[in-house]
Amino acid sequence: MKGLVWFRRDLRVRDNPALFAACRDCREVVPLFVFDEPRLRSHLFGSACVGFMLGCLNELRASLGQLGLMLQYRIGEQTEAVLQAVRDLGIDAVYWNRDYEPAARDRDRRVQDCLSQQGRTVKTFKDHVVFEAEEVRGLTGDPFQRYSAYRDRWWNQWRAATPPMIPAPKRRADGNETSMPRDWPSAQDLGYEQVPLWIEPGERAAQSRLQWFLRGPIHDYVNGRNLPALDGTSKLSPHFRFGTLSSRTAVHAALAALTAGGAVSRADVFTWLDELVWREFFQQVLMAFPQVTKGPFKAKDGLPAPRPEGPDRDCLFAAWCEGRTGYPIVDAGMRQLNQTGWMHNRVRMVTASFLVKDLRIDWQSGERYFMQHLVDGDLAANNGNWQWCASTGTDAMQGYRIFNPRIQSEKFDRDGDYIRHYVPELAEVPVKWLHEPHLMPPDEQERAGCRIGVDYPAPMVDHKTAREEYLTLAKQKGTT
Ligand SMILES: Cc1cc2nc3c(=O)[nH]c(=O)nc-3n(C[C@H](O)[C@H](O)[C@H](O)COP(=O)(O)OP(=O)(O)OC[C@H]3O[C@@H](n4cnc5c(N)ncnc54)[C@H](O)[C@@H]3O)c2cc1C
Repeated sequence: MKGLVWFRRDLRVRDNPALFAACRDCREVVPLFVFDEPRLRSHLFGSACVGFMLGCLNELRASLGQLGLMLQYRIGEQTEAVLQAVRDLGIDAVYWNRDYEPAARDRDRRVQDCLSQQGRTVKTFKDHVVFEAEEVRGLTGDPFQRYSAYRDRWWNQWRAATPPMIPAPKRRADGNETSMPRDWPSAQDLGYEQVPLWIEPGERAAQSRLQWFLRGPIHDYVNGRNLPALDGTSKLSPHFRFGTLSSRTAVHAALAALTAGGAVSRADVFTWLDELVWREFFQQVLMAFPQVTKGPFKAKDGLPAPRPEGPDRDCLFAAWCEGRTGYPIVDAGMRQLNQTGWMHNRVRMVTASFLVKDLRIDWQSGERYFMQHLVDGDLAANNGNWQWCASTGTDAMQGYRIFNPRIQSEKFDRDGDYIRHYVPELAEVPVKWLHEPHLMPPDEQERAGCRIGVDYPAPMVDHKTAREEYLTLAKQKGTT
């Protein structure tokens, strides 16, 4: 039997169920990746994300080559490209790991129907999550809408049915890695810029980052995860996004670190593991409530309407995007995103809250901007978190969560190392003024080489006033 493995969000050879099954079942195996031309052309993703993906593919090509398999690629609309490849190559069976985004599920259904009509075998596998949506359900069988209940059930499920890891397939005796592969497209060929990558792509980098994290930062994760100046989180999110690391492997590895003893604290390890559960929670929200891609998860009566379209709104949005709002922690976050394609989680929450609550700009604009710039841009996590920050999502809190940027900044970047790094205009500003530089007296501004309104902007809105306005509007509309 001749099999085709369609790689998508699973750019690795270890612990890859579709690849493993194809190599077990088939005499000949063709790995395939399709550059999704319509999606790439729509610029839904940014250069950092595309560059990271290309780096992962590069390594995957080499790893598959070592197994005696040559990764092929096509560029085009995915459904057509896969069906064409199947015809051209005379494939009997197609293998893939499942994707839970609504558009991907429609696409996969179309491909599966066509292949089945042609009498070809299709085998699909769970891979992108530890547990699929139907595996973690409430007593009524309904999907969970609250994270804490979902998390408890998730861990019960883990204890009841721990999914095993799968080894890499063995090297094939009939390996064809000596055949000359075609040149692979560059970022420019795909219509993107070549940008520096701040997180190393590929399966090997993912494994070594995981091991590094489990040896070090996880021991202080409960505190460290909130401090954006520290390298205190795993930075594995782009690896989970592109599947250079499976979440299954990560959970097994973290639990193994815990049982190995030493200085590893249970609270730190489980706090980190619960972040992986958050990831799965948002995947199941997207799966069970696909309407979240078009609007709020829950319609909340009292939510103030976003600021109307127009030059004022555009001007505020542009300042937010470029990191020149006059709020140092917000500006540092947006500049980190623009420069590196990644932003610390705490600062993602602060910048998102600021856009929606202080500037009263629709959350979908922020969601889109993040998606176009994040190296880990992922529909489920991005949408779920934006809705959480906009109070339209699964947040259990009553009323409205409005982050105070000054308090967040003083609490989590006390000495201002993060701000100084990404907002160099403020580098010489004494810590006393750093979190609210517009209050700095003129002589201090002179000494710090930072004139407010000239070198660094004055705040574009006053947080206290903006917060009161938001809450007043909310009260007028109904509930708070
Ligand atoms: C407005 C907003 C937008 C976001 N957009 C994305 C996105 O597009 N893609 C994305 O992967 N994450 C997104 N997140 C979640 C979170 O910020 C990142 O997953 C995290 O910062 C990645 O860094 P890390 O790998 O070091 O995380 P760690 O702290 O090491 O956590 C481990 C893993 O858990 C998962 N995780 C952690 N926090 C969350 C969370 N709140 N929601 C879902 N999964 C989580 C990630 O896969 C992460 O890699 C967003 C958060 C906010 C507030």
